[in-house]
Amino acid sequence: MIVMKFGGTSVGDGEAIKRAVDIVIKTLKDKGQVVVVVSAMSGVTDTLLSAAASAAQGDAEAFRQARWHLSDRHRQAMTELISHEETRLQLMEEIEQLLTNFENLCQSIYILGELTARGSDAVASLGERMMARIFAAALRDRGERATAVEATEVIVTNGHHGSATPLMDVTREAVQAHILPLLAEGVTPVVTGFIAATKEGVTTTLGRGGSDYTAAILGACLDSDEVWIWTDVDGVMTADPRVVPEARTLSQISYAEAAELSFFGAKVLHPKTILPAVEQGIPLRILNTFNPSHPGTLIVAEPKPSELTVKGITSIKGLSLITVEGRGMLGVPGIAARVFTAVAQEGISVLMISQSSSEQNICFVIRQEAVERALKALESAFELELARRNVDRIWAQDNVAIIAVVGAGMKGTPGIAAKVFGALGKHGINIISIAQGSSEYNISFVVDEEDMESAVRYIHQEFELERGEC
Ligand code: ADP
Ligand code: ASP
Ligand code: MG
Repeated sequence: MIVMKFGGTSVGDGEAIKRAVDIVIKTLKDKGQVVVVVSAMSGVTDTLLSAAASAAQGDAEAFRQARWHLSDRHRQAMTELISHEETRLQLMEEIEQLLTNFENLCQSIYILGELTARGSDAVASLGERMMARIFAAALRDRGERATAVEATEVIVTNGHHGSATPLMDVTREAVQAHILPLLAEGVTPVVTGFIAATKEGVTTTLGRGGSDYTAAILGACLDSDEVWIWTDVDGVMTADPRVVPEARTLSQISYAEAAELSFFGAKVLHPKTILPAVEQGIPLRILNTFNPSHPGTLIVAEPKPSELTVKGITSIKGLSLITVEGRGMLGVPGIAARVFTAVAQEGISVLMISQSSSEQNICFVIRQEAVERALKALESAFELELARRNVDRIWAQDNVAIIAVVGAGMKGTPGIAAKVFGALGKHGINIISIAQGSSEYNISFVVDEEDMESAVRYIHQEFELERGEC
């Protein structure tokens, strides 16, 4: 059995959905059973969320326009996909009902003047809910037995809206109870990616890009042979091809490498995706819907040995570097613990940490939108030290980016850091802060956001990643 997920561009219009349907039909012939996971059409989740945000700001127009725009786009796809008129009209009616639901939700957000995390998840869920219905109908139109499944019925999470965590035991039971009988009857389930629900049935989401995660959760619960992630590039590449056009596809990488790459911004995979697959030893494949004969990337526990020490370079921007500094911090135990407790209590996640050996400063990187909350929390946690001048300054440098150079072969190979920083030095790029995990799988460092793309390109060139067997 294969669990396969189609991302936003892979279901971006009628033509793309047709290609995806062809892929499902071919895999059904080759492998017997397929569980499909779909994202919303590309851009739809953004449209839904920004309409809801405008409604909360007092805009009563934006969500009405969004409704008509979404209605047009989905109708167009249905017209191309569903040949039987009565079936098509019935499906269009169902989609309109979901869109009416969207308008009603936005109307209440507009009246309340507030968008809660719970409301935001309810709105964001609609893109996937529309797509699962359309995709299942498109499969039926081609003579396959298929049905849309709401992940809210099978994936049970905690109540952390916006980035909920699945409760795996209950989820496994629900997934098996719902999905296995369908497969046994020869029906292909088409499951909504990205969304889930609490035990009480309140809709949650797994975080942006979370449909990958849905696929891995289902793969783990169903003990599928493999999980295939269909996207718009030929697999995991040595760098984001939009930044480095000569980037190459990596034929195999380890779970650990994939986790590092995705955590540090390789959008091709949702960071948490790896976990459920690793725990069950299920191989993941990243494949291109627009080039299905390309073998893509296989992610496994033990990939075949590679000549490459550095396999990939990733980057994330929109970050801030926070520094806590003061001569009075020298040799005082517990400062780091208090810094990170203060930040954690605000629910802010830290992407990178670095401390100078003189212990006079600790710096760490967070997303820029959390900066004010982090500074406030730290100022209050260190109120006394600030007054006594044991801590001199707590400050943020905005508009920075993290670049991570990743590869299992870096472990124990001397000279990698010298090569990375040498390449940047040669081109006059300033490095603001550096960290290396003890796994030696990655060296990460902070640069000014403006230098990010050229830094990635220079390092890619330095390691000649555009050449040779990947
Ligand atoms: P989907 O909608 O299919 O989930 P995403 O947009 O989330 O697709 O992810 C695919 C995109 O990830 C690619 O189009 C590519 O620009 C970007 N990307 C970033 N880093 C990498 C990388 N190292 N390898 C491949 N793609 C990458
Ligand atoms: N549609 C969701 C998003 O845009 C989930 C996904 O595409 O994976 O974040
Ligand atoms: Mg994605």
